[in-house]
Amino acid sequence: MTITPIADTAVDTTRSPVVLKTVADLRACVAAARADGRRVALVPTMGALHDGHMALVRQGLQQADFVIASIFVNPAQFGPNEDFSAYPRTWEADLALLAAHGAQAVFYPSVSEMYPSGFASKISVTGVSEGLCGAARPGHFDGVATVVTKLLLQAMPDIALFGEKDWQQLQVIRRVVDDLNIPVTIVGVPTVRDENGLALSSRNAYLNADQYKIAVRLNIVLSDMAAWLAAGRSPAQAVKEGLARLEEAGFDAVDYLEIRTADGLALPGETDTALRILAAVRLGRARLIDNMAAVRG
Ligand code: AMP
Repeated sequence: MTITPIADTAVDTTRSPVVLKTVADLRACVAAARADGRRVALVPTMGALHDGHMALVRQGLQQADFVIASIFVNPAQFGPNEDFSAYPRTWEADLALLAAHGAQAVFYPSVSEMYPSGFASKISVTGVSEGLCGAARPGHFDGVATVVTKLLLQAMPDIALFGEKDWQQLQVIRRVVDDLNIPVTIVGVPTVRDENGLALSSRNAYLNADQYKIAVRLNIVLSDMAAWLAAGRSPAQAVKEGLARLEEAGFDAVDYLEIRTADGLALPGETDTALRILAAVRLGRARLIDNMAAVRG
């Protein structure tokens, strides 16, 4: 495979990304990019791309000069009653968005390319993957850790970028990469929100206009909780009041609303000051997650 050298600008928004469907093509592409002196960034996604994903691509282009996005709706991270079949798939629009942002390649494997017949391995992370989404979605982080490990070993990028929107996922991935000595730098990218503060998500497409008005309350409640913690309220008090606010806002259910230590996601002790507020709520067909940094005052 030939990688056409891109002039100094590094970003060429007039060229459609090279589409790679097999691991062999992906590896050949990375090898060619490296032979051309490029630093390679991987941006793993499940598609239905939006500006949150594009923040990862933009950051990738700042820290590397050859960005490969992957688009793979990973069946292994969906539970039996979850939205795997309904998950939005918008290939043409995704490709256009990646082109417009200057991503040079997209890895778009089939399920059988990722999980050929006979596939029998699993990466399972203890600790950070327990509780929160790990409790609400049994097996989810095994699926995430397994597919991300595969993608990292398939591409062997210099850096890989993940959103802080999926804070627990980011911690799980950092753990796997450290534990398994995978030679890649993991870069976390701050959450991109819409003009009303709602974290951009492919699943926001499930919300109708009334549900959207409720959904935007999630970020407001988390911000309020961060302010309460900074003002000296205890995590337990902040969670109690936050839950009441979410209920008042009209969410159908709260999977969890918790305050943990920012990095290890442990239950905070008196001396822990760097905290993270994490929540998952249900609204119609949508399950929304969000999180926010908090410093105890
Ligand atoms: P997904 O396609 O939902 O699996 O997300 C792919 C990557 O994009 C993950 O690393 C997400 O954390 C990240 N991402 C999704 N939404 C956002 C957002 N609103 N802001 C920043 N990163 C995001």
